[in-house]
Amino acid sequence: MAYEVRGVVARGKGTPVSIETVLVPDPGPGEAVVDVQACGVCHTDLHYREGGITDDFPFLLGHEAAGVVSAVGEGVPNLAVGDYVVLNWRAVCGQCRACLRGKPWYCFDTHNAAQKMTLDDGTELSPALGIGAFVEKTLVHSGQCTKVDPAAPPTAAGLLGCGVMAGIGAAINTGGVTRGDSVAVFGCGGVGDAAIAGSKLAGARTIIAVDIDDRKLEWAKNMGATHTVNSKETDPVAAIKGLTGGFGVDVAIDAVGHPAVYEQAFNARDLAGTVVLVGVPNPTMTIELPLIEVFGRGGALKSSWYGDCLPSRDFPMLIDLYLQGRFDLDAFVSETIGLDDVEAAFEKMHAGDVLRSVVVFDR
Ligand SMILES: [Zn+2]
Ligand SMILES: [Zn+2]
Repeated sequence: MAYEVRGVVARGKGTPVSIETVLVPDPGPGEAVVDVQACGVCHTDLHYREGGITDDFPFLLGHEAAGVVSAVGEGVPNLAVGDYVVLNWRAVCGQCRACLRGKPWYCFDTHNAAQKMTLDDGTELSPALGIGAFVEKTLVHSGQCTKVDPAAPPTAAGLLGCGVMAGIGAAINTGGVTRGDSVAVFGCGGVGDAAIAGSKLAGARTIIAVDIDDRKLEWAKNMGATHTVNSKETDPVAAIKGLTGGFGVDVAIDAVGHPAVYEQAFNARDLAGTVVLVGVPNPTMTIELPLIEVFGRGGALKSSWYGDCLPSRDFPMLIDLYLQGRFDLDAFVSETIGLDDVEAAFEKMHAGDVLRSVVVFDR
């Protein structure tokens, strides 16, 4: 038996997405079916539609989601029908070299569902980031379901599944931001703003937001930025040094993923500071840095993939902080939309008009 539901599919490179009938199989061993309640629109969905990730069309888009488990397969002891979950795209294996040496956030062999969801003509769908959640029901590996407190509304909770976790984790897990630090965040979209919120949560004293769009700098202030720099008008490196007693910041986070921005982040940090790259560069980009400066400045140049998160550790903790009023996930939700509005949401996101549009499913 298969479920027949509606989902958002990208059929070809650069082609507007369409609503299609999606067939979702019953969960097999280790799998689960989740009734999706809300799913955020992320840049990665747009990259899939533009053919920027792989050519495995058609894609079932959507991956920042929360919902309720509606069926579980065999051999799933820790998940039950009715559980409220945030979906993650790194279900760690527990067996690989990274997992066995106690660093599961680097897992080399993360799990996805073994079965495929299909179109009604049998064409197999490639689910975005192994999830595919712009759909009423989705099939995932049970390890992709992270249980959280159901008191958190799905519009907010789902965002932890990708961009917000990537940003918070870039600051706290990868950058090691802690009480009293100075931080600069380059690029104030969803991921950058989450890095700002994460820095605030960790007790950073100075949080400098850098962007070329004054609207985004206003959002960044709401997230906890103590200072803002419009890098179109002002040299950000000089401005950041000016705001930090001439030293530069302890942690500089590039949430754009562009060589010119990375160079600014590199030069805006203090001696022994850390640069974190969390923005995703395109495959053709290269960077040239004076090696003597890489050596002489010390510190660390790090990359942050999914915020070096461990979903089972980080999602329930951040949801609890949200419910305690210490971390405002709702601030990331610019608008709630229907399944039919994803293409329009891509345009708004591309124009920088929204932080996150979130698809909400009527049930
Ligand atoms: Zn592993
Ligand atoms: Zn994403």
